[in-house]
Amino acid sequence: MDTQMSFQPVGPAPAGRTAISAYNPAYDPLVSPPGRGQDYAPTYWVATAGEPPEDDGPVNGDIDADVVIVGSGFTGLSAALTLARDFGVKAVVLEANRAVWGCTSRNGGQGQNASGRLYRSQWIARWGLATAKRLDAEIREGFEYWKSLVAQVDCDAQPGGHLYTAHRQKKMAFLENEARVMREVFGYDARMLSREELRERYVYDREAVGAMHEPDGVGVHPLKLAYGYMRQARALGVRIHPGSPVLGWRAENGGVRLQTPNGYVRARRVAFATGGYTAQGVNRLLDNRIMPVLSNSLVTRVLTPAERDAAGLKSTVFITDTRTLRFYYRLLPDGRMQIGSRSALRGADAQHPRHLALLREGLARKFPTLAGVDVDYSWWGWVDVSHDMMPRVTQPDPAQPVYYAFGYGGNGVAFSAHAGKRLAQRMMGKDGVAWDLPIYDSPLPGHMFAPFRRLGQGLLYRWYYLRDEVL
Ligand SMILES: Cc1cc2nc3c(=O)[nH]c(=O)nc-3n(C[C@H](O)[C@H](O)[C@H](O)COP(=O)(O)OP(=O)(O)OC[C@H]3O[C@@H](n4cnc5c(N)ncnc54)[C@H](O)[C@@H]3O)c2cc1C
Repeated sequence: MDTQMSFQPVGPAPAGRTAISAYNPAYDPLVSPPGRGQDYAPTYWVATAGEPPEDDGPVNGDIDADVVIVGSGFTGLSAALTLARDFGVKAVVLEANRAVWGCTSRNGGQGQNASGRLYRSQWIARWGLATAKRLDAEIREGFEYWKSLVAQVDCDAQPGGHLYTAHRQKKMAFLENEARVMREVFGYDARMLSREELRERYVYDREAVGAMHEPDGVGVHPLKLAYGYMRQARALGVRIHPGSPVLGWRAENGGVRLQTPNGYVRARRVAFATGGYTAQGVNRLLDNRIMPVLSNSLVTRVLTPAERDAAGLKSTVFITDTRTLRFYYRLLPDGRMQIGSRSALRGADAQHPRHLALLREGLARKFPTLAGVDVDYSWWGWVDVSHDMMPRVTQPDPAQPVYYAFGYGGNGVAFSAHAGKRLAQRMMGKDGVAWDLPIYDSPLPGHMFAPFRRLGQGLLYRWYYLRDEVL
């Protein structure tokens, strides 16, 4: 059945040109349609990535394709790249807004050897040791694949690993256990650092009582990296159509017919790589599968060497703290500070100054000499948190040629490369992949209280705050 969604037409764009409409800061995937040709969020990455690569303009007339990918972030581009490079399939990528418009142009650029929101010790608790080890091998392979892509693109890569800082003394035991599990069970060189070692070698975060350092981890300029994926994919014949939201879907002759504002796109197979921007009502297999969570980010002006010294910033290694509503930050290669954390519950409230104030306060708590420093960029984006905290790359209904990959829970910069690759392989029926792993062998779970999830989220945020700061 066609599902017609309401949207504001901005008029047909001439073939090969993208009609750009204004960026909507109040966009909210639970209530807004997918957007059409929206300009980028005002991020530091957009300001510094250079001109976007050429694209193929909005869909203008009906198209037939073997494979269609919906969404042009890291996941969709990686899937299209794999299809072209490894299978000779020139996919058509449909993007509602400008190319790479979603989280991929808005994140912190922290590339971790991880997937989803669960720690490795939690994998063992949930699935047992044998499955946790197989999952680790898969995620580790994915991280190596991502690093091989990073090595091909000029994206300001900052190797050096990842620091988890304990924001309170009671979190040290948790980190110590995680470091032990990483070392003894999975063979990683994860090490604990005392407050003094952390300060001496990396950062003088006034809240941090110690940290776990894991050597895997590369900070990147995410948009330069994504533009790199895009250039490679287009060079192999992939077509990328921005300004082409998929508004509805119908099964047709064993394939699908996708409705865009200016034409139908018929395909034998379709993959959704729409992340936290997955709108309700496009396809019932996608509805209510994630909790879109708004995450905020700011970038300061360039700090002078003296300011960096006074703040205690010695390294560009990226950092997250142990709050559930965590702060993540890093010193960027050009001497600016980037910090991010939670934001509003609803898109309509995203611009309220209290959310930016929360980030400023977080920065000042960690680095008192940076209190009141000028902020040059501030933005937000919708993170795709799944109801069981782990992603899926899957075909949710074997009777339908529809696939998806999302639910990364704020850990998608690196894992999306592998997820896109596996998505492509899955569509092409590749054998020899461990498809029986928990991130592949089932659809994303729904939630029986999905219509009330914002209410539940508000209560959870209060509980997390108490647990993070008071109890
Ligand atoms: C502020 C912030 C900070 C983050 N920091 C980090 C970090 O440091 N490290 C990390 O690992 N992860 C981080 N993340 C998460 C990370 O950015 C994402 O996991 C990753 O970019 C997901 O990529 P994606 O391609 O799956 O989705 P996206 O990049 O969100 O792309 C989805 C695309 O689908 C399009 N779309 C949606 N619906 C339709 C439709 N119906 N028709 C056509 N197109 C459609 C959207 O317009 C969008 O461009 C952060 C996220 C945010 C918001």
